[in-house]
Amino acid sequence: MSPFLGEFDLAVVGGGICGLAHALAGARRGMRVVVIERDAQANGASVRNFGFVTVTGQQRGEWWRRAMRSREIWAEVAQAAGIRVEHRGLAVAARRPEAAAVLEAFRGTEMGTTCELLTRDAAASRFPMLRTDDLQAVLASPHELRVESRVAVPALSLWLAEAHNVTFLYQTLATAVTPPVVETTRGAIRAALSVVCPGDDFLGLYPERLAAYGLTRCKLHMVRVGSAVGAPRFNSAVMSDLGLVRYLGYSELPEAAALKKRLEAEQGEHLANGVHLIVVQSEDGSLVVGDSHHYAATPDPFGPDSVDELIMKEFRQVVAWPMPAIRERWIGTYASASNRLMLIDRASDTVRLVVITSGTGASTAFAIAEEVIDELTTRSQPA
Ligand SMILES: Cc1cc2nc3c(=O)[nH]c(=O)nc-3n(C[C@H](O)[C@H](O)[C@H](O)COP(=O)(O)OP(=O)(O)OC[C@H]3O[C@@H](n4cnc5c(N)ncnc54)[C@H](O)[C@@H]3O)c2cc1C
Repeated sequence: MSPFLGEFDLAVVGGGICGLAHALAGARRGMRVVVIERDAQANGASVRNFGFVTVTGQQRGEWWRRAMRSREIWAEVAQAAGIRVEHRGLAVAARRPEAAAVLEAFRGTEMGTTCELLTRDAAASRFPMLRTDDLQAVLASPHELRVESRVAVPALSLWLAEAHNVTFLYQTLATAVTPPVVETTRGAIRAALSVVCPGDDFLGLYPERLAAYGLTRCKLHMVRVGSAVGAPRFNSAVMSDLGLVRYLGYSELPEAAALKKRLEAEQGEHLANGVHLIVVQSEDGSLVVGDSHHYAATPDPFGPDSVDELIMKEFRQVVAWPMPAIRERWIGTYASASNRLMLIDRASDTVRLVVITSGTGASTAFAIAEEVIDELTTRSQPA
């Protein structure tokens, strides 16, 4: 018989941002929470991303609202846990008239009312890190914030343990959930409620349920560019024309069709590799620059330089940065589905599987977790 590890109100499988968000939501409701993570520390998408909590550009409606709520929670948690916010806001630099038209249309929606649309001259003084040669307009969004994920995720875990008494079991694989018992490689846990947040592992727990969602994986290239003497300090994240045909909050606007057509003619290779531009800055002045999107059931682990070069080509067009030199490269993967941004599966009355199937978990997980825990605690029946 496996050792008994303890009794909890909520067991969370997965120590990435999705699992941590559920741990927080449970702890805030006074639950005794345990997080089970197979690795020695979170090592998946949640520590490989930009740490860019994005609101503007998220799909109109529920998803945008979730991003707004998650950003609010990030701000609270960052302050409480001593997580440094590197910068706030977003500058979307439009270099083509068609891109400027998308920004203007966006500004006219309810999502754009708190954003500003700047002319080239106004943008040049507000955002010194932007190149201005072919700049048409810039959308300035106040909502976003940026954290250094590789530091922020461990700090968030530590704070949950210290301030909220959350128990963390690292290097522990959850092997079965048979409510109210969660079996792990270290022993058994009893928990009234369980939430499984496995990221892009679709075969570990409930494989037959996850198979029904037709999931795949997305691989992304990321680079870090070293800081340079005389380089401007970033006062917000930066995106460009390519992001306007990728982020649903813009790409679903009718005005995006003309931009897409032009980009297909001018930047076909970027689109074929799913390349768009996000640039954020770190405390030491270096920049995290990305990314690309390649889909496969098992993405290969290789990072061809040609893809990084496409990313850097767009970077050099948009950002004023003397002699950008790549200092670090990595790849990350996340769960993906063609027909949904996330799934919440009701595996039993007391168990939920939560998979964020779009590259937006850092921006939405906190709000999703609040909804899941609310629903579980109000509707769950004894199994
Ligand atoms: C390169 C890159 C850039 C991104 N940029 C952004 C961005 O700018 N903004 C944004 O909002 N989102 C971004 N994302 C997406 C975001 O990072 C993901 O949506 C989010 O991190 C998913 O969190 P998760 O907790 O579900 O998954 P993960 O972080 O992958 O965590 C899942 C965890 O579950 C553990 N696990 C799985 N099965 C078991 C088991 N049986 N037992 C124990 N442990 C288990 C794994 O070890 C893992 O640690 C990006 C992603 C990548 C890869």
